[in-house]
Amino acid sequence: MTGRFAPSPSGRMHLGNLWSSLLAWLAARSAGGRMVLRLEDLDPDRCTQAWCDQVMRDLEWLGLDWDNEPVYQSRRTPAYEAAFRQLEEKRLVYPCFCTRAERMAASAPHRSDGQAVYDGRCRRLTAEQREDLARQRNPAWRLAVPDRASSFRDLLQGMYEENLLRDCGDFILRRSDGVYAYQLAVVVDDAWMGVTQVVRGSDLLSSTPRQRYLLELLGCPAPEYGHVPLLLAPDGRRLAKRDRDQELGALQQRFTARELVGRLAHLAGLIPEAAPVSPEELVPLFAWETLPRRYIAMAPW
Ligand code: GLU
Repeated sequence: MTGRFAPSPSGRMHLGNLWSSLLAWLAARSAGGRMVLRLEDLDPDRCTQAWCDQVMRDLEWLGLDWDNEPVYQSRRTPAYEAAFRQLEEKRLVYPCFCTRAERMAASAPHRSDGQAVYDGRCRRLTAEQREDLARQRNPAWRLAVPDRASSFRDLLQGMYEENLLRDCGDFILRRSDGVYAYQLAVVVDDAWMGVTQVVRGSDLLSSTPRQRYLLELLGCPAPEYGHVPLLLAPDGRRLAKRDRDQELGALQQRFTARELVGRLAHLAGLIPEAAPVSPEELVPLFAWETLPRRYIAMAPW
């Protein structure tokens, strides 16, 4: 059993990241599993080595450890290239020349999670049209997805079903600036790192069918998934990096690591009161059954 941390080092961790990190760590350790760390620093404009170092210090401060040398996505480009080529050989990849505005216009009504369903218009371009457009701009590259329903059972959210063509549309594997997309990188790395259990925020539940399909095409086994509910700010909004008071730097002014972990463990239903505790002490108490499945609106701390 191998679980993972996969933080995006584009800023300081906030409460939502700490929450899913703690639960991912507990799920792995309570099953006697390994825990691996991957820094998702694909976007060179947003991710820096300084933030990578900070994220690791923050995880350590909280009492969360990992077993491998950290993997940096920014150093894994050849692996993404190889997977991309494998998909190209299956003739499932095509260039998309849509600008942002065209993409929006080419999208069916938005799905419940706010993402747009791409209608696949560039899939139907002729070779001539492609040549023409390629002279004007660099394309992004999309995966042609099948019109078929597929489902999986999430450890917390139960059955989740999607028809990739209707509910998602052909999705981007590589951006027009050459950066490989999150969806491709995450599956290549999860497979390479031997991850067998993915525990993360439920905002990524709807990415899972794409990731499972990619794994299938690449001939890799799918891990199991547990999507933990998002913590909501007291006013019902999703916690975001801009909520400065929820950033770890601000939280550290008010709480010790044990106090913070205790509060999170209480929200997770693992302990009856929000008393100080270490992650290690929670290992024997962790159980999927006690975790809330729905959004958690936090009372102000
Ligand atoms: N890097 C993503 C994030 O921090 C998580 C990706 C994943 O867990 O698959 O939101």
